[in-house]
Amino acid sequence: MKKFFAVLLAACMVAGTAVAFAGCGDDDMLRVATNAAFPPFEYKQGKAFTGVDMQIAKLLADDMGKTLEIVDMEFDSVINSVKSGDCAIGMAGMTVTETRKEQVDFTDEYYESAQVMIYKTGDTRFTGIDKEDVTATEIETFLSEQTDFTVGTQNGTTGYMYSHGDEGMGYDGYSNIETLGYTTGAAAARDIIEDKVDAVIIDRQPALMIAESVGGLTVIDCALTSEAYAFAVRKGDTETLNAANALLDELEENGELDKIINSFFDGTATFTYTNP
Ligand code: GLN
Repeated sequence: MKKFFAVLLAACMVAGTAVAFAGCGDDDMLRVATNAAFPPFEYKQGKAFTGVDMQIAKLLADDMGKTLEIVDMEFDSVINSVKSGDCAIGMAGMTVTETRKEQVDFTDEYYESAQVMIYKTGDTRFTGIDKEDVTATEIETFLSEQTDFTVGTQNGTTGYMYSHGDEGMGYDGYSNIETLGYTTGAAAARDIIEDKVDAVIIDRQPALMIAESVGGLTVIDCALTSEAYAFAVRKGDTETLNAANALLDELEENGELDKIINSFFDGTATFTYTNP
């Protein structure tokens, strides 16, 4: 019996060690989960990661005395990667939602965003709603009246939830419309040009940069939703949570957060869409 417990204990210790290694990785590294296809928050310039979140990630790693490692993955893998402890934090232009809150802890919110719609410039179906003072209600009516209409979105995003419908978010969705999920918003936008989708619904600032990069697209700059971004950490990981919140506080107080955001929003930052 004693021997059995000794073996069991040894097995647990090995298992415990394995979990510790798998869960925390290298203690000197800050592994950040992102989807680097979401300009201006995270995207690539050549091989380098850039964007608002990526700059904050670097500052966070410095504050924590760690080396930054960006782990680029599909957007809908970010939560799992943080949940499993593979990455310490998700920095991915991620909207705080009640459903996500059940899975991860969020930092303070650092940016307000909204879903908007992109369509092909010159597509006359959109003539009635492509005006400066268009309201969300007018766009919603337009969407609910379409037949044979497909909306492209990025998988796992609030854009998908808005178009498809999502109980947790309180979005009814559009049962008359087909909602397609893409790995990136840019690939969805490209498919507007290829006439494979009629519109794309995506976060406002990425919409503007992606549309410019793909070309031939118009963004209807009217908020269909009201959202706020925050960073995600594993539930109970107060070390990372507190470090990130302290940094956000500091950046807000000294005006650096606005500076970082503006440096990517002032039209100087460019995103180049490359066909995957
Ligand atoms: N803000 C959106 C969401 O959280 C989209 C994020 C993204 O595509 N990176 O779902």
